[in-house]
Amino acid sequence: MKSHVQVAVIGGGVVGASVLYHLTKAGWRDVVLVERNELTSGSTWHAAGGMHTINGDPNVAKLQQYTINLYKEIEEISGQSCGVHLTQGITLAASQERAAAISAWGPSSSRPTRRRSSSR
Ligand SMILES: Cc1cc2nc3c(=O)[nH]c(=O)nc-3n(C[C@H](O)[C@H](O)[C@H](O)COP(=O)(O)OP(=O)(O)OC[C@H]3O[C@@H](n4cnc5c(N)ncnc54)[C@H](O)[C@@H]3O)c2cc1C
Repeated sequence: MKSHVQVAVIGGGVVGASVLYHLTKAGWRDVVLVERNELTSGSTWHAAGGMHTINGDPNVAKLQQYTINLYKEIEEISGQSCGVHLTQGITLAASQERAAAISAWGPSSSRPTRRRSSSR
């Protein structure tokens, strides 16, 4: 193994793997990923795989959408399935204000189709 590299990414969880992927995608070649155990053996191993694009911060929502699209990109490049199975989800709102906020945050596909006109 080389003793000197331009970038050493420490930790082979989803974040480290993503950093390494994006570095190489940007053209960096003198890079290495160092993992003390097995790749993805940390928190990443335990993740339930829940992904969504609704977030109060629009930049985080964009990042989440980017991540979902990234799995498709990786599958196309590698020719291997990531095992991602996208389903739909339901977000409940207990007030008109919350429903309006969710409607504003999410992509058009997440807009509520029906609103309750309760006075509560
Ligand atoms: C039970 C559970 C369920 C979850 N469900 C979801 C979910 O549904 N959706 C979601 O988005 N997130 C979920 N998460 C959160 C998600 O798993 C973490 O946010 C994510 O995996 C963190 O990735 P990471 O790469 O930062 O950390 P890790 O996956 O922990 O990776 C860090 C790696 O660094 C290595 N390391 C540490 N120190 C060193 C060192 N000095 N030298 C070399 N290697 C080192 C570790 O061995 C480890 O492999 C869940 C987490 C848990 C615990």
